[in-house]
Amino acid sequence: MPKHVTPQTKYCPRCHHLAEQRSTPGYCAAHHAEWQLHRRGAVTWARWALATRNVVLLDTETTGLDSQAEVLEIALLSTQGEVLFDSLVRPLGPIPVAATAVHQLDADAVAQAPSFRELHPRLVALLRKRFVVVYNAAFDRRILDQTCARYDMAALRPAAWHCAMLEYAKFSGVWNAAKQDYRWHKLQGGDHSALGDCRATLATLARMAEETG
Ligand SMILES: [Zn+2]
Repeated sequence: MPKHVTPQTKYCPRCHHLAEQRSTPGYCAAHHAEWQLHRRGAVTWARWALATRNVVLLDTETTGLDSQAEVLEIALLSTQGEVLFDSLVRPLGPIPVAATAVHQLDADAVAQAPSFRELHPRLVALLRKRFVVVYNAAFDRRILDQTCARYDMAALRPAAWHCAMLEYAKFSGVWNAAKQDYRWHKLQGGDHSALGDCRATLATLARMAEETG
């Protein structure tokens, strides 16, 4: 049977040239080589994050996704697995049912929790000069910024924000043709609590750092 009609024949999702057999995401030789470069970059980044003392992992649970959404829970974890911060947050606005369905937090759960105003000074101190790693950093950063703005308080300004989701996307190498970029993946092993998602992010970094290829 000629090669081009065998069921194994695959075409590169980026350029539609014939895929390399050895390329797990099905790239052609050129795009496989480029992906290997990106993947090595992600592995190097994960090793750097795990070995750098002033890196902290952060995650939040929120009242939603839009421009009105606020922080409901926030956790900070060291790369050694030490819990640096873990608190519920009493929001100013209501908690939509759809948000509660995700993380099980409702108004009763946070009725006795401190407000973001009360937590803000400790968060500023903990994040000062830290590299903050978040699974989907753009989202948590936006929610934190808009929560700070709602209280008319200064935005949290760590040394830098790093996104574990974008690094993991490069590491996995699955192509998203619609976005013309590596596909984003849901956080594996997350439990929709801020601390649980920090731990799942740490485990994701560890998996990436272990890679020997
Ligand atoms: Zn290609």
